[in-house]
Amino acid sequence: MQSFVDFFVFYTDSDEEEAREDVTTDNSTNPEQVFFAALRSDAVLNAFEALDYRERMLVAAHLGFCPECYEIYEIKEKGGAPIFAPRKKKSLVDLAIEHELADPDTVHEILERAYGKMRKKMGGSGLSL
Ligand SMILES: [Zn+2]
Repeated sequence: MQSFVDFFVFYTDSDEEEAREDVTTDNSTNPEQVFFAALRSDAVLNAFEALDYRERMLVAAHLGFCPECYEIYEIKEKGGAPIFAPRKKKSLVDLAIEHELADPDTVHEILERAYGKMRKKMGGSGLSL
């Protein structure tokens, strides 16, 4: 949503009466940006929650996040010390085996159907995946 023009904020210093250019604008705390990011994540999570149990488990495991708390990191052990590491994204083959499905194509079909459901549900919110 941030355009090239938005990046350059021009303002006039009341003391010096000269236009200045601020190229250090950080929109990550811009209320409008934060609002729309929150709205979008709400829409995504609502669409995810509307999936059935197996779809949620497969989507989360394939994309690498926790289906309960949406965390994308997990605590692992490295050299005897706990570390935060990104959750591993599971392959279609691994998911087929873990969920006792016929083959990777079946997993792929279930995932595509789940993403389709999410897109459809989010369509009504005016936001898209
Ligand atoms: Zn979790």
